[in-house]
Amino acid sequence: MQFSLPPPVSTALSLLEGGGYEAYLVGGCVRDMLRGSVPNDFDMTTNARPEEILSVFRNFRTIETGMRHGTVTVLLDGMPLEITTYRVDGEYLDHRRPASVTFTASLYEDLSRRDFTVNAVAYHPGHGLLDPFGGQDDLAAGVIRAVGEPEVRFTEDALRILRALRFAARLGFSIEEETARAARALAPTLREIAAERVREELFGFLMADHAAEVFRQYGDILFCVVPEANSAPLLSGLPQVLPLRLAEFLLPCEEAGAAAVLKRLRADNQTVHSVCAVLRVYSSHLSADHAGACRLLRRIPRDAITMALLLRRIHKTEDRAVTEMIDQILSSGDCYRIDMLAINGRDLTALGIPPGPELGAALERAYEAVIECRVPNEKEALLAFLFET
Ligand code: ATP
Ligand code: MG
Repeated sequence: MQFSLPPPVSTALSLLEGGGYEAYLVGGCVRDMLRGSVPNDFDMTTNARPEEILSVFRNFRTIETGMRHGTVTVLLDGMPLEITTYRVDGEYLDHRRPASVTFTASLYEDLSRRDFTVNAVAYHPGHGLLDPFGGQDDLAAGVIRAVGEPEVRFTEDALRILRALRFAARLGFSIEEETARAARALAPTLREIAAERVREELFGFLMADHAAEVFRQYGDILFCVVPEANSAPLLSGLPQVLPLRLAEFLLPCEEAGAAAVLKRLRADNQTVHSVCAVLRVYSSHLSADHAGACRLLRRIPRDAITMALLLRRIHKTEDRAVTEMIDQILSSGDCYRIDMLAINGRDLTALGIPPGPELGAALERAYEAVIECRVPNEKEALLAFLFET
C-alpha cells in the first residue's frame, strides 16, 4: 500500500529518520487514507523524545503543545504536524486521563494504548502498514472495535465511549457487540469526564453525517451526558450547522435550559448565544405581517431566524405565511434595521435635531413608518414625514 503524502509530511518523516529516529503516521490520517479520503491533519508518532523532536525541527517553528504527554506541533510550510513520542499511558484514575504517561521504545505499545482498531494503524512510506489489531479488516467491515478489552479501555478513559459514537456517526460504522455492551454498561462514568472533553466529542458527534442512526441506537448513552436532551432529535437531513443541530438536540430544554446545558459543557459564548436565539424564535409567537417580521429581523440575527424556521418546518409547526414574509423581506432588500433607513443621524443633525434621545426617537418614528409601509424608504419622503408630523 502506497499513499501519496503532502511534501511537508514526507519532509518531517525524513528529518526524524535523518536524526536516527523511527517515525510513522498514525491515527485519523491513516484511517482516512485507507478509506480513500483526504485527511484534514497528519499525526505522527516517533521514538524521539519531545526534546529530541524539538532539536530535529530546530530550524522550524515548533509549538510545545503537550510536552508532558510527548506532543510537539511543528509548522512545515504552513502545515501544522502533531508529533508525539511513542508512549504508554500510566495509571488511570476515576475513568479520566492517565495520571502520568511513560514514553516507550515500542511502536506496538504505542498502538495498543490507542482507542479503536481503526485508529491504531501506523503507516510509513518505506515500511508500509503496521496493523497489529486488525484495523484494516474493521475498516473494511465498517466496525468500531476497542483495542483490547473494551471494559478495561472504557474504564481507563470513559471519553472513549463517546468517541466510539462519534466515529460510528462520522464513518457510518456499527459498533462491535462487546464494545457496544461495555459502552452502555460504563456510560454513567462519562459524568466524571471533564466538560471540555465531553463537549468536543458530543459536538463532533452531532455534526456527523450518520448522527441520526447512531442516536437511534445509542441515545441512552448520550442521555448520561445530557439527560435533558431531545429523545428523538430529527438530525437526518438537518444541515450540518452546529447551532442548528444543538438547538434540535436541546429542543425540549427551551432557551434557559439550553443555555444551562451549554454553559455546563463550557461551550463558547457565540455558540450559546446562537442556540438561544434559535430556540427563542422557535418558541415565540411570530407575526406574519410586514412590520412584525421586520421587528423580529431587527432583534435577532437572520441566520438564527432561518434556523428556527427550518426547525419549525421539520417539526411541522411552520406557518408558511411567516416564512414567506421573512423570505420576501430578505430577498427584496426591504429595510428592517434602523441602519437600513434611507436617512441617518447625520441627516437629522444637519437639519437641526441635536444628537441624543430626540434624534433616536425620530429615527424610531421613521423606522416604524417604513416597516408599516406608511412612508417609502426614501430620504425626501422620510424627511418630509418627520418634519411635517
Ligand atoms: P479526527 O479526524 O476526528 O481528528 P482522529 O482519529 O485523528 O480523528 P483525534 O481525537 O485527533 O482523532 O486523536 C488522534 C488519535 O489519538 C486517535 O486516532 C487515537 O489513535 C488516539 N486517541 C485520541 N484520543 C484517545 C483516547 N481518549 N484514548 C485512546 N486513544 C486516543
Ligand atoms: Mg485528529
